[in-house]
Amino acid sequence: MTPYLLPSEALWVGGPAAAGKSTVSRLFARKHGYVWYSVDAHTFDHEQRAAAAGLHELGAGPGAFDRGPMILEDIHAPTIVEGAFVTPTMAGTGPNAVWLMPSKPEQLARLHERNPGANHEGLIWGWQLINDQLAGTTATVINVDNQTIPQTLNALEQHFAPLLTAHPTPDTPTRQSFIRTSNNQLVVQAHARNRTTPITFDCECADPTCTDVVELTPTALSQARPAILSPRHT
Ligand SMILES: [Zn+2]
Repeated sequence: MTPYLLPSEALWVGGPAAAGKSTVSRLFARKHGYVWYSVDAHTFDHEQRAAAAGLHELGAGPGAFDRGPMILEDIHAPTIVEGAFVTPTMAGTGPNAVWLMPSKPEQLARLHERNPGANHEGLIWGWQLINDQLAGTTATVINVDNQTIPQTLNALEQHFAPLLTAHPTPDTPTRQSFIRTSNNQLVVQAHARNRTTPITFDCECADPTCTDVVELTPTALSQARPAILSPRHT
C-alpha cells in the first residue's frame, strides 16, 4: 500500500468513557473524509500482537504496553484515532491531538443515563488516570460539560480547522472505502468477542451530509459484503 499519510492526517481524540469520543469522531470522519479508527475495536488485535512480541500476557487485563506504534502501523489513510488509551505520550500535544473531558459529575451522569444501575467504578477510575496524564502537559482539552453532540463536534472542528484546510477532500469512491474500513473494524471486533447482537454501522453512501446509521447483526456480514446503505436511500 502506498503510504500517503502526512503527520497532520493522523488526528487523535482522547478522553474517558462517555466523553462522546466515538460519536463525534464518527461524525467528523464521515463529514470530512477520514477513516474512523477506534482503539477499543482493536484491543483484541493489539493484545495479541503485543503478546507475540513478548510485551504482554494474554488474559492479564489491558496491559501497559504502548499501542502507539501498532496504531501507526494500522493506518494508511487520513484517520481520526479515538479512545481512552490515547495518551499525550502517544499522540503528542500538537494541533492534531485533543482530549474531550467531562467533569467527574458530568461523566457519572452520562454513564448512568447510558446504563442505569450499572457499576461504573472502572470507568470513573479511567477519568482520574487521563486527568493525571494530561496534568502539566500543553495538551488541548475541550470541556464537554452540558454540550450536545453537535456542539462537541463543532468544538472538534474548530480545533482541527487549520488541518482541515490542508486536508484534500477525497472523492466519493475514496470516502466510501474509508467508511467501509471504519465499519469493518466493528465486524472484526464483533467476531473477536463472539458478539451476535446488532451493531450500529455508518451509512456508506459517502454523502458528507449523511449522518444515517444502520443496525445490523455482524454475523450477517462477510468481507465481500455489499455496501451498507440507509433504508432512506433506497
Ligand atoms: Zn447515507
